[in-house]
Amino acid sequence: MTEIGSILQQLLQFSPDALLVVDEHGLIQFSNDTARDMFGYASEELAGRPLELLVPERFRGRHHEHVASFLQSPANREMGARIVDLFARRSDGSEFPAGIRLAPIRSGERDYVSVAVRDMTERRAISAALVAARKEADRANQAKSRFLATASHDLRQPMQAIRLLNASLLKLTRDTHHVYELVRRQEQAIDNATRLLHALLDISRLESGAVDPKLASVSLASVYSDLQREFESTAAAKSLELKFAESDIVLMTDRTLFAQLLQNLIGNAVKYTEHGFVRVTQSLDAETLSIVVEDSGIGIPADKLDRIFDEYYQVDTVGAPRVGVGLGLAIVREVSRLLGLTVSVSSKFGEGTRVRVRIPRSNLLTNPAASAAPSLHAAENPGARRGRLLLLEDNQSVRVATELFLSLEGYNVRSAAGAADGDKLFADLRQGDVLISDYRLDGKLTGLEVLRNLRADKPWDVPAVLLSGDLEAMLRAVKTPIENCRFLSKPVDTQALLEAIGELSKLPGDA
Ligand code: ADP
Repeated sequence: MTEIGSILQQLLQFSPDALLVVDEHGLIQFSNDTARDMFGYASEELAGRPLELLVPERFRGRHHEHVASFLQSPANREMGARIVDLFARRSDGSEFPAGIRLAPIRSGERDYVSVAVRDMTERRAISAALVAARKEADRANQAKSRFLATASHDLRQPMQAIRLLNASLLKLTRDTHHVYELVRRQEQAIDNATRLLHALLDISRLESGAVDPKLASVSLASVYSDLQREFESTAAAKSLELKFAESDIVLMTDRTLFAQLLQNLIGNAVKYTEHGFVRVTQSLDAETLSIVVEDSGIGIPADKLDRIFDEYYQVDTVGAPRVGVGLGLAIVREVSRLLGLTVSVSSKFGEGTRVRVRIPRSNLLTNPAASAAPSLHAAENPGARRGRLLLLEDNQSVRVATELFLSLEGYNVRSAAGAADGDKLFADLRQGDVLISDYRLDGKLTGLEVLRNLRADKPWDVPAVLLSGDLEAMLRAVKTPIENCRFLSKPVDTQALLEAIGELSKLPGDA
């Protein structure tokens, strides 16, 4: 044997695979040492025996067909590459999962087939463990989402009642200083819990893919002015300059989600700045509109920048306020993904932070449509008389709390649990009366259908506030804006509810 021949011989014995050569009749002509170890037959025992000896009896019939068809059109291939349950048989009758590769060999005038067999026991066990781990992770993730969705949904009603009751207590205790102070603190705690509840709901819905952006023309100026109004008192309390750029840009985007993204960024800027300014500016280049939220606050250390978009991550800065829960930027991340925007952060620790939101120019509308804000024809009538409030709410504790709160605000409130009892309530409906209704009511009708029925019956557009735990689902169901109708989410912001009622309850004819 030549030197190379001897090396090849040793290599054959050294292979991690069992190697066999069979002739055109399927009889084994050669087997290496690995085959001996794997199958428990010495080379001499295998020589001249059919390859089927190494195949479990129940597969032998099919195996014969495989070998015959292979010999008809031989090619180098993995036998049953797609067959998961391929098994081989040891001399003691036990079986093991096997990966088998066949290749044709021609020597002189004769055809042979080389067979490489690999013991897949370990690989199959690992992939089975991986599949099981993946299943378990999916199950845990679904359980988490279900828990979050259920818990936050079920928390809305009690939160709504607590919020309204607390607002009433605040009013009742205004003259008793120390009690008032306690209730005011309680109000702050309720505000924090409500914020957390909203953030949890937002992130669980965004991550579960349940949010479907609704594109519409959105004027930047109107988003800025809403945000200015939302944050001006917090900024003023810290003597911060809060400034928004002038803008006549109109975007094609989802207004709620887009406003939510900026709201989180500006909220952070205000939260993490004690002195100086929070500015919202914009710039336009050939491809992108950039909106920059800049603050002169505590800044973020460079080594923490890549973690701040993670859920529940908060930079551990000494002296920094712990107001949030670490979900704001995770919401920003999910919303920007949904809307096709990019958000980048630069910061100097101790000096301030700049967050840039990049919006592709293709999202800008060159021919700005008029602002979609519904016009309230009575909005400028400050002296309008107050109508009555007709409340439909099927949850008793929320109904009682709402009635108490609104009565203390000086409204004449009448309530019913659902559309069926509402008939009495609406019997002497007058102009100026406002319907306040839960969107989902017990029984067949939604709050919107009750409103439509009322409007069909009356010669004026009965004003209404519709409340829902899932504002977006309600807006999806409503589809188009409705004149003299406001949509608010639960737990309701008491101030927003009063403002909505204030505007809606003025009579069109009042001077
Ligand atoms: P949080 O609810 O804690 O504000 P976010 O997800 O919004 O959570 O932000 C994550 C963390 O990033 C914050 O806890 C804060 O440490 C840091 N951060 C975000 N924005 C700013 C900012 N403008 N200035 C300083 N730190 C910020």
